Amino acid sequence: STPQNWRRVDDYLAATLLDDDPTLTAARADSDAAGLPAIEVTPVAGKLLNLLARMTGARRVLEIGTLGGYSTIWLARGIPSDGRVVTLELLQKHADVARANLERADVSERVEIVVGRASDTLPRLAERGDEPFDLVFIDADKESNTIYLDWAIRLGHPGTVIVVDNIGRAGDVADPGSEDSMVVGTQRGLELLGSDPRVDATALQTVGAKGWDGLAIAVVV
Ligand code: SAM
Repeated sequence: STPQNWRRVDDYLAATLLDDDPTLTAARADSDAAGLPAIEVTPVAGKLLNLLARMTGARRVLEIGTLGGYSTIWLARGIPSDGRVVTLELLQKHADVARANLERADVSERVEIVVGRASDTLPRLAERGDEPFDLVFIDADKESNTIYLDWAIRLGHPGTVIVVDNIGRAGDVADPGSEDSMVVGTQRGLELLGSDPRVDATALQTVGAKGWDGLAIAVVV
């Protein structure tokens, strides 16, 4: 098993299970052309988010980390047309690229992009007193995962599903001595998921086009 094989299998799975989708391909290409880093979820992972939204019957989705809106499109397509995805992004440039991608995908009307540091915008979201979120996807600065998980729980309801991306960190997540702030942030987030009575969780390590990684999934109890 090699990284080349992992990519080959991801490509095979995508070709076998996913529809060819020019809108999603264009979203990735335009993000690339605008100089955004190619760190969006893979197509098979995007489809997983889409299926989770549909399986949970989600109407309101919170995403932390928009980038060019690639995962946002998958999520928005998994909710009813009168549903809402609120997606939080630090950088205005990323939000601008995402907005154009969401418009082309024809889901712009059901997506709100909130620009700013998520640790600042999450409390503002809470103050709005909107209905709780049914599904939360956490995919931003890993150092803040505990903050994001706490807000995800507070902004959710019993039954809300929370997904945390990139928990494998090429195996470093199992290194208790790691000094990599992204690894440490991921570890603290997993520890919260394992010990906080408000959630029940598991995690899977994965290999794929993006290497050796993983995702955690939790439900608010
Ligand atoms: N979810 C996206 C996808 O799969 O298409 C990828 C998101 S990318 C991995 C992480 C994003 O989080 C980047 O666009 C980055 O600018 C944003 N980000 C980093 N720190 C942030 C913060 N403190 N608040 C909000 N967004 C942040």
